[in-house]
Amino acid sequence: MNFRSLILIISFVFSLILAGMNFYYERDFPTFIFILILSFILSFSLLNYVFQKFVYERIKSVYKLIHNLKLGKELKDALGDHKSDDPIGDAEKEVRDWAKQKASEIDQLKAQEKFRKEFLSNISHEFKTPLFAIQGYIETLQDGMMEDNPEMAVNFLNKASRNLDRLSYLIHDLDEIAKLESGAVLIEKEKFDLQVLIKETLDDLEYKANEQNIVLDFSSKGNHPIFVKADRKKIQQVLVNLIDNSIKYGKRNGKTSIKTHPLIDQILIEITDNGVGIEEKNLPRVFERFFRTDKSRSREIGGSGLGLAIVKHIIEAHHQNVHVRSTEGIGTTFSFTLEKA
Ligand code: ADP
Repeated sequence: MNFRSLILIISFVFSLILAGMNFYYERDFPTFIFILILSFILSFSLLNYVFQKFVYERIKSVYKLIHNLKLGKELKDALGDHKSDDPIGDAEKEVRDWAKQKASEIDQLKAQEKFRKEFLSNISHEFKTPLFAIQGYIETLQDGMMEDNPEMAVNFLNKASRNLDRLSYLIHDLDEIAKLESGAVLIEKEKFDLQVLIKETLDDLEYKANEQNIVLDFSSKGNHPIFVKADRKKIQQVLVNLIDNSIKYGKRNGKTSIKTHPLIDQILIEITDNGVGIEEKNLPRVFERFFRTDKSRSREIGGSGLGLAIVKHIIEAHHQNVHVRSTEGIGTTFSFTLEKA
């Protein structure tokens, strides 16, 4: 019910009581009608005036204020002024909508804040581990190990150097992910033969696979070129990260297979290993930054914990999909799509 109908009802009830009281004493029907009409007109005009002046105008200005704040001045100017007969109802609706919108904004900010805190604590943890290790090795070397046990000293220097490598991967990957997230990195698509790129990448990683005695197998039907439209350098990074993981988390004497499958207007690339696998509960989280399935093992192996986050960013920037399936102890398959050229 809007407020004008309310005034109408109040005025009518008031006039009816007044005219009714008069009729009770005078018993004169025409006078009853006259008083009813006159008091109705007077009370309605008076109430209407009072409401307009003291309630309606004020509520309307509150409503306008909320409406303008909610929309922002520019949008409000573009939409023009909103007029309604029911400013109380409008104001209530605006306040409800506003409160809902603010609550969801607050939830979003809280989630971002939580994410920021986690991210900072992850980063400092990731940096601290290799840094403290390097510090420890250097202090031991300074304490005279060079002279006392030169063989052990060389071993410590090698360990320090591996930790320095880890720091440098971390900085490189953080830099990469920051650039990808800020949109500073543009995806420059070109037509290229995916088959050639996969072979190049396998050549680069051959030495690493040999260390673990892992066979890198690429079977593409018919040796025909597979033309795709994508950013060649970025896709090389995706391949390096995925194949490198298949070696890091693969079994000694194991195998990594790379397969391509043509779809309607995409190419599906699958990288399968027969390594340690990933627990089902961890599968949805492997693309998160710094997420590691088994902290101790992953740390022992090294890596920044950002490799898969980078993969996901690159593939999504191409508007394509990346997916993982895995069985613990049996192996893992990462797959992604690319646009056919
Ligand atoms: P990392 O630098 O630790 O390798 P990634 O982002 O590349 O970081 O991978 C995140 C985690 O996902 C790894 O620490 C590992 O636990 C798990 N993971 C990634 N690839 C594989 C794989 N092929 N097999 C088993 N686990 C994997």
